[in-house]
Amino acid sequence: ISKKLEPFQYTVWTEFTPLAIKYNAVNLGQGFPAFKCPEFAKQALIDATNSDENQYSRSQGYLPLCQELARVYSSKYNREINPLTEIAVTIGASEGIMCALLGMVNPGDEVVMIEPCFDLYIPQTAIFGGIPVGVPLTPPTPGENQWTLDFDRLEAAFNERTRVFMINTPHNPIGKVFTRQEIEKIAEILEKWPNVCIISDEVYEYITYDGREHISIANFGNLWDRTVVFGSAGKIFSVTGWKTGWAIGGADAIKKITTAHMWNTYCSNTVAQGAIARMLRIADEPYIGFPNYYEWMKNEYTRKREILHNLLKNATKIGVDPIIPEGGYFMCARVNPSLIESSYLENTTYDFAFCRWMTEKLGVCAIPCSAFYLDHHKQDGENLVRFALCKDYKDYEAAEKLLS
Ligand code: GLN
Repeated sequence: ISKKLEPFQYTVWTEFTPLAIKYNAVNLGQGFPAFKCPEFAKQALIDATNSDENQYSRSQGYLPLCQELARVYSSKYNREINPLTEIAVTIGASEGIMCALLGMVNPGDEVVMIEPCFDLYIPQTAIFGGIPVGVPLTPPTPGENQWTLDFDRLEAAFNERTRVFMINTPHNPIGKVFTRQEIEKIAEILEKWPNVCIISDEVYEYITYDGREHISIANFGNLWDRTVVFGSAGKIFSVTGWKTGWAIGGADAIKKITTAHMWNTYCSNTVAQGAIARMLRIADEPYIGFPNYYEWMKNEYTRKREILHNLLKNATKIGVDPIIPEGGYFMCARVNPSLIESSYLENTTYDFAFCRWMTEKLGVCAIPCSAFYLDHHKQDGENLVRFALCKDYKDYEAAEKLLS
């Protein structure tokens, strides 16, 4: 294997999803919906293939989808988004972020990211010779739920080598939704570094709880031109296997993505793009008793958040302390070091031992949170594990029986 990939031959996803299957465990680990996607999504895919939208599309994105995305995001951002130059469609946000980093980072450049962070930011940065610089959030004190950002520490992370800043809201894994005040303060710091590009991962943009507002950094100050904001059809419509996402942002910043994407896969899946263009229109219409599909989805995740929270509070066999998320697909919990069998603790961190033990011995799978930290900060995640909110009601019923 190449020197570039040598250090990155492991991911939690390839360990824990097969482990859950092997032990026939309830999989509250990897974040993909365990319920069916909406019927209108299936129909849209049939309609798109029947209208022969089956060949390569325009490299930057299939025009009908780009036009729909321009409509949706122009009203959100209160600016006229150009579907030809300010949108890129990629093979999920994951490929999009990889293309953004390829287009932005030169060897030796620093990429500032807030930790914990979605695991792939770290190898994707390093593969292109970038140096990940982590700014860990301060965890909530027991009984509280809010993770906080130390702005002095964030400011201190920037220097003349900083090339990219990455932010994720609503956050994976901790479920933080950055407030308007927090985003404003981050934007003030970024205004002082005009050569820094901004990657804002907002794939859980529609999933916020307790009336919280999703705020995008793209609209603050004059950051638009150097920001790319990622969205995901997989997350919005529960079709993660379609692997279709997009970036919205200033034309120069988007061009960095499309140039990389053109040499990577040239274009994304056309029939999925055609279907998603149709789905974005349908999503605005009334849906199963809700004013639109997005409200229905938010309500579903809100219900599951409550179910999972109660389940974890009462899970006497694992004695964890759940932290209530403000948005997104996940709920983290602090783990109790006294429960697990000592054989699991050899040569590993506590969170990994706990997740392996719980999957193999109790039949419930979760994800260890030290996977979301840089090597020298891993101790910050060692007492935390992540449970998914995007599973079926029957999964939570089964997990409740197994854990209490
Ligand atoms: N985003 C999902 C998660 O966090 C899945 C990640 C993946 O499969 N790479 O669980």
